Amino acid sequence: MPIINRIADYFDEMQGWRHHIHANPELGFDCFETAKFVESKLEEFGVDEIHSQIAKTGIVAIIKGKSTGKTIGLRADMDALPLAELTNKKYRSKHEGVMHACGHDGHTTMLLGAAKYLSETRNFSGNVALIFQPAEEGGGGSQSDV
Ligand SMILES: [Zn+2]
Repeated sequence: MPIINRIADYFDEMQGWRHHIHANPELGFDCFETAKFVESKLEEFGVDEIHSQIAKTGIVAIIKGKSTGKTIGLRADMDALPLAELTNKKYRSKHEGVMHACGHDGHTTMLLGAAKYLSETRNFSGNVALIFQPAEEGGGGSQSDV
């Protein structure tokens, strides 16, 4: 199962991303540091296009496949919740009263993992649009025309 093994090799790196995002949660449209982190990873992976500051801090990146074809969209949300984190984890929130309690740290990490894999392999036709969305927890981030 070469594909699964290939992705399993990302485990430590992806866990590091999730812990970083978890420790630095941001609210609503104000996902500035999260977007900066995501953008730096997308640049590192060598995606073909990065469109930033969509809906304030959203990002859409494009990865082109080996041949032309349709475009599929993969989406993750980046914003956290206004909750205090009451854990003693090493990667607990550094921002008082803000926490990734809804799993968006995991969603963002998974989409970054897909971006890395798809950028490396390009084993598909068409394009993949990776959508990193702010303000999923209210605020209408996906509908914003900001
Ligand atoms: Zn959520």
